[in-house]
Amino acid sequence: MSLTRTGQAVVAAAALAAAALASPAVGPASASAQDSTFTEADRPAPPTWSEFKASTYQDPTGVYVVNGDEPVGTLAELRAYYEKMMATDDLNGGDTSLVVNTNGGADDVWSASQVGDLTYCVSDDFGSLKSTVVDAMAGGAALWEGASSAIDFVYDPSQDASCSTDNDAVLFPVEPIETDEYIARAFFPSSPDAERNVLVDDSLTTSGWAPSAILGHELGHALGFRHEHTRPEAGTCFEDDNWRPLTPYDSVSIMHYPQCNGGSDDLSFSGYDAQGVASLYGS
Ligand SMILES: [Zn+2]
Repeated sequence: MSLTRTGQAVVAAAALAAAALASPAVGPASASAQDSTFTEADRPAPPTWSEFKASTYQDPTGVYVVNGDEPVGTLAELRAYYEKMMATDDLNGGDTSLVVNTNGGADDVWSASQVGDLTYCVSDDFGSLKSTVVDAMAGGAALWEGASSAIDFVYDPSQDASCSTDNDAVLFPVEPIETDEYIARAFFPSSPDAERNVLVDDSLTTSGWAPSAILGHELGHALGFRHEHTRPEAGTCFEDDNWRPLTPYDSVSIMHYPQCNGGSDDLSFSGYDAQGVASLYGS
């Protein structure tokens, strides 16, 4: 899951007072999540370069991370990402739950054969947290696999002792990281090999969300899905327009940060999540 500590605090508070969710940590709340009269004027103003850069951070690996948990790469690539974000016209009609990432205008997805063989390892470096991560990966994967028989995440424990992006025996590694910036982050199908990993902080077990829901969210990115709250109906947390809607807006999507005007606070897998992934990869 791709949350700031601020976001976690909001969600933790929400367990005590649901009203806390009405005060998102980022940006103005100019339209309610259910507002059917949304117009383009409700879209939050895009950030300047300096504001955008200030909203990102670098992994200990040196990779720049945007939108909470999405890797970009170098500073030059970060600038290119920003320029593209600013230059892209709204290709989505502005008012049209689950959204797929687009790359150069095309859907950012796996081939039919690859999506049925998404192999991963879970690093032994997790130590005492490893069994929790293994279980959470299985639980998160099962959410998507249950909605599309084309999808198969395949755990290969024989690679756990050398579980890194250098290991070509698996498609991606799941590795530990120590950071205050997020609970976990992932990648998109188009991400280069060096960025194609799932990084997990030990706050996985203390965030207030189920570890399987957090990694289910991350595996949503790995399948090509963007944050649902980038859609204008959220009224906040806008990211960019490089995505294509697959379903109606869904404030309770597993890909929607609860603190971004979300309609639920538990990161559960929604009916539209199931419908969206089935529409992309087959039921
Ligand atoms: Zn995310």
